[in-house]
Amino acid sequence: MTRNAMKRDHNMDMIPRDHIAFRVTGHAAPGTAAAAPSGLLPALFAHYRDLTTLRYDFPLLLVKGGPAEGAIRSLSSVIDGVLQEAAPPGAEGERMRQHVLRMEKEIRATTARGVVGSLAALWEKSARRLAAASDESLADSLARARAALKVDGTLVDCNAALPARLFGHAWERVQQERTRPVREQIRALIVRLSDMLKAGMLASEAGRSADALKAGVGSAHAGAFDFDLMSRLLARVGGGSTLPPAHVRRIEWALAVLQSQRFFQVADAGAKAANVPYDFVFTSCAAACEAYGERLPRMVELLKAIAVARLEAEGRYVDGKHDLFFDAFDAGALDREDLSLFPDYLVCVRWSAGDPADEAGLWRLLSSGIPAKVLVQSDEILAPPNEEKALPFLTARSAHLAAMAVGLRHTYVLQAVSAHLLQMKDAILKGLRHPGPALFSVYSGCAASAGIPPYLHAAAAMESRAFPSFRYDPGEPDWAAAFSVEGNPEPGADWTTHRLAYEDEMRQRVTEDVKFTFADFVACDARYARHFARLPRAEWGAHMVPVADCPAGALSQSAAREPYVLLVDARSALHRALVDDSVVRESERCRAAWRRLQELGGIRSSHAERLLARARAAWEEEKAGELARIDRAAASATAAPEAASAVQAAARPASDAPAPAEPGVQERSADEPYIETPRCTSCDECTQLNSVVFAYDANKQAYIAHPEKATYRELVEAAEACQVSIIHPGKPRNPNEPGLAELVERARPFL
Ligand code: SF4
Repeated sequence: MTRNAMKRDHNMDMIPRDHIAFRVTGHAAPGTAAAAPSGLLPALFAHYRDLTTLRYDFPLLLVKGGPAEGAIRSLSSVIDGVLQEAAPPGAEGERMRQHVLRMEKEIRATTARGVVGSLAALWEKSARRLAAASDESLADSLARARAALKVDGTLVDCNAALPARLFGHAWERVQQERTRPVREQIRALIVRLSDMLKAGMLASEAGRSADALKAGVGSAHAGAFDFDLMSRLLARVGGGSTLPPAHVRRIEWALAVLQSQRFFQVADAGAKAANVPYDFVFTSCAAACEAYGERLPRMVELLKAIAVARLEAEGRYVDGKHDLFFDAFDAGALDREDLSLFPDYLVCVRWSAGDPADEAGLWRLLSSGIPAKVLVQSDEILAPPNEEKALPFLTARSAHLAAMAVGLRHTYVLQAVSAHLLQMKDAILKGLRHPGPALFSVYSGCAASAGIPPYLHAAAAMESRAFPSFRYDPGEPDWAAAFSVEGNPEPGADWTTHRLAYEDEMRQRVTEDVKFTFADFVACDARYARHFARLPRAEWGAHMVPVADCPAGALSQSAAREPYVLLVDARSALHRALVDDSVVRESERCRAAWRRLQELGGIRSSHAERLLARARAAWEEEKAGELARIDRAAASATAAPEAASAVQAAARPASDAPAPAEPGVQERSADEPYIETPRCTSCDECTQLNSVVFAYDANKQAYIAHPEKATYRELVEAAEACQVSIIHPGKPRNPNEPGLAELVERARPFL
C-alpha cells in the first residue's frame, strides 16, 4: 500500500460512511445524507431568479435596414442612444431617464412572456399602458423619447426561437450586401441587351415596316399617324446596318436567361414576374444538398449568359474563339469565385434531444464545398441520465460537434451559447461572409428539465465550460489567428470565479470567491438531482472542498476530502451539497476538454511551455558556465600575489595567519522548508493546496512565500503531491502540532 493510500485511508476514517456510500454509488441511504431536492439552484443564481428586473442584453433588436454590422443590437443600447439624444441635462433629464427606463422594463417583461413584435409597436403599447396609470409628465417624456427613436425592427427574447431568427436575419443582410453587385450587373445587362435588340431592329427593314412602327407607337395614338407613309420615308433615308443573325440569336438567348433566372431578385428590368425566386433557407442539410445539385445546371447557364452578355454588350464577342470556350463550360469549370457570386444556403437544424437525425447530411454538406451556412441549435447538451453509469454524462453529440468540425478543411466553425450571441456578432458575420461552408453550433439553454430561464441556463453552460465559446476561421494565415477562445469569461482560468455575498448563520455578511464548475451546471438540471446530497450544517467541516479545488486528475486523492457545491433554495438560504464521484469525474473530463481548447487557443500551450523550459535550461547552463569562468579568473588573479607572499607568510609569526573563513551567509538551513524553484513544472498542486504559503514567481515557478504560515502537515502533503518531488518540508516548527510523529516519518524521503 502506498503512503498516499495510507494517508487517504486514515483521513477517510473521519468521513461518515453514508457520505462515502453516497459518493461511490450516487444513492443516499434513507435517513442519512439527504438527496438534494429539486428547487435548489447554484448559489450564484440567487440574484438572477427574475431576469425582467435586471437591465441586461435581452431582448435583442433585429434592426430593419442599414448595414449588417448594425443588424443586431440590445434594447438597452437603443434606449441609451435615445436618452443620450433626447434627455436634457439636470432634474428634468433625470425624470425623463426614469420614465424611459420604466418603459424599457415594461417591454422586457412583455417579450419575456414570449411576445414578438416590432420595437415601434411594443413601444406604443407599453407607453399607453404606463401612461394610463401615471401622470402627464410620463406621457410627455415617452413622447419626446419616441421622437428621438430612429431605428425599428423585431424584438426577440432569449428563447428557443432566437438562434434561427437571429441567424436568418444576419444571413439575409449579408446576402443583400454580397449579391448587390451581381444583381446590379444583371439588371444593367438586361437593359443593355434589350436596347441593342431594339436598335438592331430599328435599323433593319423589318423594323421600318408599317406594322413594326405601328406596334412601337402603341394603339392609343395609332390613329394620329400614317404608318405607311412613315415607312416609305424611312426606307428612303435608311439603309443602316443590322446585327448579324448569330449575334442576335446569342443576345436573345442571353437576355432570356437573364430575365428568367431565379437566383436573384432583379427589380424593374423586365424580369419575368412568374419567376419565383429560389428559396435558400432550409431546415435539413440533405434538402439543401439536393436543391444545390438540382440548381447546378441553371447556375452554369446563368454564368454563361452573363459572360456572353458582357462580351456582346462591349462588342468583343469573337465567334470562333468564344464559341469553343462556352461550349466546353460546364459545372466542372465552376470555381470558388464563381460560386461566391450566388447566394449562400442557410440551413437551420434543431437538435432537441439525443443524437441528431441529420448528422450524416451535415457532414456531407460541410465537406462538399457547397457554400452553406449551417446553424445547429442544440436544446440539450447533457445526455439523458444513465442509471447504469455505462456512459459519461456529456454524450450528447451536440456538445462535441463544433470541435469535430474543426478537422474539416475550409469550414468556418463557431460555437456559442444563445445568451452570448450579441457578443459574438462579429464572429457570426465573419462566418456568414466566409467564402466556404460554415458551421454555427449554438446551445439554446432550452433544456426541458432545467427550471431556469434559457438565458441563464445557456450562460451557465458557457461559464461552467460545459459549452465554451470558440471560433475557428480557416481564412486566417496561421493557427494563432485562426483559433480563438477569447470569447469566454476568464479564458486563461480553469473555472470562472464570481463574488458571492450572503449572510451566515450568525447573520453576519460574508463575501467569498466562488468558482462555477461543470458540477454547478449539472446541479441546474433536476434530472441529476440524485447526484447531489444536501448536508445539514452540523456535518460541514474542514475536510470538505469545493469541486473546483479538487486537483486536476486527482479524483483518488480527493477521496479523503468531500467535494461539494453551494446551492440556494427559494428563500436564498445557502446549502452545501455533497457531489457524487460520477459528477466529480465528469467535471474533471470537462476541465481536461477545456484545457485542450485553451491550448488550441494558445493558452498554456504545452509546445510553448516545452520550448520555454528548453530555453530556460540552456540559459541556466550558460549562466553556470559564465559563473564558473568568473570564479576561475578570480582564482588565478589571486594566485600570483599569494605565491609571492607565501615566502613572507612562512616567516611570519603564527599569530599573523588569516582567520578561518566564515560559513557562507546564503547557505540554507536544513531545518527550513524550501522548493527547488528552477525545477518547478507549474503544475498548481502546491498552490492549490495553500495559495498563501506557496506562490509563483515571475517565471510561474513555485516558491515558499510564507513558511511561517504553513502547518507541517501542509508542507508534507505538498511534498507528497509534488509530481517532481522538489518540495522539501524541513523540520517542524510547532512541536505541539497534532500527528507530528507520523508527519515526520512521511517527510523523511523529502528532506
Ligand atoms: S507541486 Fe511541485 S511542480 Fe507543482 S507547482 Fe508546486 S513545486 Fe511546482
